[in-house]
Amino acid sequence: MHFITPEQFQFVKKQAKKVLNTYTTSKDQKVIQAIQALVQEEINTKITFSDIEQQLLLQPIFDIKSKEQLEQFLANIKQYVKPFKKPTETELKKLFPKDKKLKLPKLETYDWQETSYLSWFDSGTNRKYIVYREDGVLKGVRGTYSHSSKVGICTVCNQHAKVGMLLVSKKGADLGTYTKRGNYICEDSEFCNGSLSDLDKFTNFINNLM
Ligand SMILES: [Zn+2]
Repeated sequence: MHFITPEQFQFVKKQAKKVLNTYTTSKDQKVIQAIQALVQEEINTKITFSDIEQQLLLQPIFDIKSKEQLEQFLANIKQYVKPFKKPTETELKKLFPKDKKLKLPKLETYDWQETSYLSWFDSGTNRKYIVYREDGVLKGVRGTYSHSSKVGICTVCNQHAKVGMLLVSKKGADLGTYTKRGNYICEDSEFCNGSLSDLDKFTNFINNLM
């Protein structure tokens, strides 16, 4: 019954807002129909439906004419979102064996259906942690994070947001050498997850660190 990923859910949200926005800004039936066709096409490209029932669940998206209907539609769709599988504290500790006093996030505060990756910041060490699943396997990276108090483009979600520099070191080819990769990423990872409607961007970000 869970056939939508958190990333796809954010994508559906964007499309639903597009539909609502068209209704509120245009009275031209042709314009509305053109946007509807576009939204339908984008949904079909993005989401693989295993049967017609799944596909039909998303059809009310085209009837969204008010903010209330938008909220109602999203609340209904959310039950079909496959949540990010909540890791245990032991699993998280295993990911970062070198960090003896690893500060763990408050796992009960996350909305796992809106989480594509898990991230938290340790202000004691200035480290930002990023945890994700690759083919179901839990993985993690961490780096030093400098708050910049400026607005820029986040490497992960590609939105304009308050970003900081994440510096991740990795071992170089020669023994004892290190290279550092820096990326601007969102300070607020809840916002970042909410803007992440294309997981390829996150995957590219991770691959570039390795
Ligand atoms: Zn972001």
